[in-house]
Amino acid sequence: MTREISHFIGGKPVAGRSGRKAAVYNPATGEAAAEVALASIAEVREASAAAKAAAPGWAATTPLRRARILNKFLHILEERTDELAAVITAEHGKVLSDAKGEIQRGMEVVEFATSAPQLLKGEVTENVGTRVDSHSLRQPLGVVAGITPFNFPAMVPMWMFPVALACGNCFILKPSERDPSASLLLAQWLKEAGLPDGVFNVVQGDKEAVDAILTDLDISAVSFVGSTPIARYIYETASQNGKRCQALGGAKNHMIIMPDADMDQAVDALMGAAYGSAGERCMAISVAVPIGEATAEALLAKLEPRVRALKIGPGTDPEAEMGPLVTKQHFDKVRGYIDTGVAEGARLVVDGRGFTMQGYENGYYLGGTLFDGVTTDMTIYKEEIFGPVLSVARAPDYATAARMINEHEFGNGTAIFTRDGDAAREFAHQIQVGMVGINVPIPVPMAFHSFGGWKASLFGDHHMHGPEGVRFYTKLKTITSRWPTGIRAGADFVMPTMK
Ligand code: NAD
Repeated sequence: MTREISHFIGGKPVAGRSGRKAAVYNPATGEAAAEVALASIAEVREASAAAKAAAPGWAATTPLRRARILNKFLHILEERTDELAAVITAEHGKVLSDAKGEIQRGMEVVEFATSAPQLLKGEVTENVGTRVDSHSLRQPLGVVAGITPFNFPAMVPMWMFPVALACGNCFILKPSERDPSASLLLAQWLKEAGLPDGVFNVVQGDKEAVDAILTDLDISAVSFVGSTPIARYIYETASQNGKRCQALGGAKNHMIIMPDADMDQAVDALMGAAYGSAGERCMAISVAVPIGEATAEALLAKLEPRVRALKIGPGTDPEAEMGPLVTKQHFDKVRGYIDTGVAEGARLVVDGRGFTMQGYENGYYLGGTLFDGVTTDMTIYKEEIFGPVLSVARAPDYATAARMINEHEFGNGTAIFTRDGDAAREFAHQIQVGMVGINVPIPVPMAFHSFGGWKASLFGDHHMHGPEGVRFYTKLKTITSRWPTGIRAGADFVMPTMK
């Protein structure tokens, strides 16, 4: 019998009742491994009702108590990292070491959230007027939701819910229907850590569940991570429905290689950043921009043999550097981009299309692919491919490279490799991108900073986790107080001013 992946509502797994399901595949073998329930509007309402019922109690729980539960959860994650990583690899396809890496990055946000009492401290000013004091508080929003993509089934939810819970909110997670099982382990382990029923819920589903979240009157805020067209839709629809929203979208991250860069270091960095997780990372480098012809030739001479030598295999193979793509549909899409690149005149230096994985002929494996001579008018330059395809787009000078990045639709991450402090400083200062690396290829901010891009890579005002996460998941209240001490202010009909 096919295993069915359920919802998690009110502290327990709840089987789907909508009658709608989707197959979940093992990308390494191409086999349908399970079916995930797709929630109806009624099932989303059930989750929001459970969260709403739990909200007053959770908001009234002291921040220290909330932090202690998150701390227990952190220990469970630490002990059971292997179990969670195996579940991620089985449905996503990434290699186990990479799955453990994403759990580690998620755990860092949990660790950050365990400082809830410190994060939620307000501000006080004594004597804003004579014998009048003001203080400000950060209070929870109530019920909030997170809608997440397939590429980080544990880390991206953990960018959201640890901070939301620490701030006193109840949470509804709608994970990707392509790798939904990790969400259920997270829910079980939060319960085991002592989280009261209803504070964290999971609804599995597709557009129907998402639309139910966006129109639910009891949900105050929505965090989203996924592709740009959906991010825009989520932001607009959530805002029209009166919700606070942060919606992170797609990316096309460029890395500039200056003539003075340490070429071996730059090539190592590009290999990991372009082909790690088969390029299915929003912070993957997908465009390398060498400055000047000599730099480009030196780069390609070192890069080409490394791309040809990539070790590809099922995620469970400890030798593999890169696993398969997530689904057959995504495999076809990425392959189609390679065809388009060739048709548009880019030079295909390494062609991953012919790759087959012996013993795993039905898995979604694509070989590492390298293009040279990519220009800014080409589809493979303009659009996000989200696969193991690196484009080399040569630039004659730094100013041209910086203009390419600044004029691109996306602004998630970028990097420069150089030994020149002036160039690096200029780059960090002027570039129109949210996350910048200097000799660091994937500059993902740590949990106590905030993660987010610019331009079409983020809709909304707040980045995720860190101080921005706390701001997103709380509303500010400012209280001004005077105590009756015998002073009579008298009736005042003008705008109050400081006396
Ligand atoms: P996706 O946009 O297809 O799906 C994301 C979520 O939206 C899923 O939960 C999905 O069920 C839901 N969804 C899909 N279609 C929908 C629709 N028509 N209406 C309502 N909801 C819908 O993204 P994906 O393929 O799962 O993930 C890959 C994308 O995510 C890439 O574009 C990548 O760059 C982006 N991403 C961005 C970041 C970031 O931080 N900016 C991080 C990770 C991934």
